[in-house]
Amino acid sequence: MKSTTLLTILIVAGMVLGAIVGEFILNGQSIGSGHWTKVAGDLVLVRPLKLLVIPLVLFSVVAGITRIGDPAKLGRLGGATLLYYFSTMLIAVAVGATLVQFTNPGDLPTEVRESIVATGETAFSSDTTLQAKVDDKTMGGTWTNILYQLIPSNIMREMSAGRPLGIIVFAIGLGLALAAGGERTRAAREFFDAVFEALMILVQWVIWITPIGVFFLVAWTVGRIGLGNLTGPLGGYMATVFLGLAIHGLVILPLILWVFGRVHPYRFMAKMKPALLTAFGTDSSSATLPVTIETAIDEGECSEQASNFVLPLGSTINMDGTALYEAVAVLFLFQLYGIDLGLGQILLVVITATLAAVGAAGIPSAGLVTMVIVIAAVNASLGGAAELPIAAIGVILGVDRILDMCRTTVNVWGDAVGARIMTRIAPDGPVE
Ligand code: ASP
Repeated sequence: MKSTTLLTILIVAGMVLGAIVGEFILNGQSIGSGHWTKVAGDLVLVRPLKLLVIPLVLFSVVAGITRIGDPAKLGRLGGATLLYYFSTMLIAVAVGATLVQFTNPGDLPTEVRESIVATGETAFSSDTTLQAKVDDKTMGGTWTNILYQLIPSNIMREMSAGRPLGIIVFAIGLGLALAAGGERTRAAREFFDAVFEALMILVQWVIWITPIGVFFLVAWTVGRIGLGNLTGPLGGYMATVFLGLAIHGLVILPLILWVFGRVHPYRFMAKMKPALLTAFGTDSSSATLPVTIETAIDEGECSEQASNFVLPLGSTINMDGTALYEAVAVLFLFQLYGIDLGLGQILLVVITATLAAVGAAGIPSAGLVTMVIVIAAVNASLGGAAELPIAAIGVILGVDRILDMCRTTVNVWGDAVGARIMTRIAPDGPVE
């Protein structure tokens, strides 16, 4: 049996066992974020993966850029990649926004509506951590923050804070300089290449603990939320998110891959399974990045040139699943609060949800927090008429983790599809 097949079987087994333990043993107990299953999952899987992310971002981008070498070729790859990121995210939001108009999940009987709104707002007002995160999320603030990250003043600080954007910018510059240096910088090029290979070997070892980590994390999620919630009053909302993600992940992205990448999309998806399952289990595209790079290059036949550039950047800015989710969630909340939106406001949701997804970090629940940007923009356009209170996100807080696991999987899938398509623009040539 191929080692990836065995790994996939083990991860799926971990997930199923986790769901069983969560539903039948843990559900009903009070399970917070300090529960032992969550702590064990973090220790076994999330922390070891995160440990690799920052060195990997630096070494993979430098190694990839030195291979590309030519700034003109990098410009073509960069332009095509950004076009891919933004167009797929816009399509994802459009799918979500259209779907939620048809399924109308916020149209619930008045007493059910009042009861979930009251419970949700209370949940929000007792969650001080979430309130603090939400407070500093304004559109202007978020964009200034992204610009500051793009032009950092101290690379060591970016590394210690775990912010990948600045490291990527620095690595692109360093990679180009190393390529331009010819004979003088050959030793450093070989150094970056060799450390990148060593990090990949480390990732291959860490990947084998994925099934155990996924077991703990799925048990924690299911134990906390309970599968019964899928049929509760939020069932329609959750089903809309699931359906939207399925349409985007299983139909639209495969179609894009088939047309622009000339690759059999479902065969490629099967090869990317370890990364997709890790995304599902860890709930973080950033923590999954080591596995995504390893699987894309070793199994998915993506070039190193494309993968080392498209995947690190994609894990922080390309989030199709999050963009789709933000649109569905915001429109659902407006429906639930009985606030009618016109076409102009729905278009505003489409645009701001795309930007909010770019601003979301690849960590659990980031999309839930940046959603306030979308809500604030729509509220402002309503001109002081009815407003959706920010506390409304408390309504969907309780079921967020399961949706987050699914949207993270689509986020990583979108990155992988991008790397496979860009392999056509930047195939691996012989390394000099
Ligand atoms: N958890 C998501 C990710 O890491 C971000 C989000 O939607 O919350 O990709």
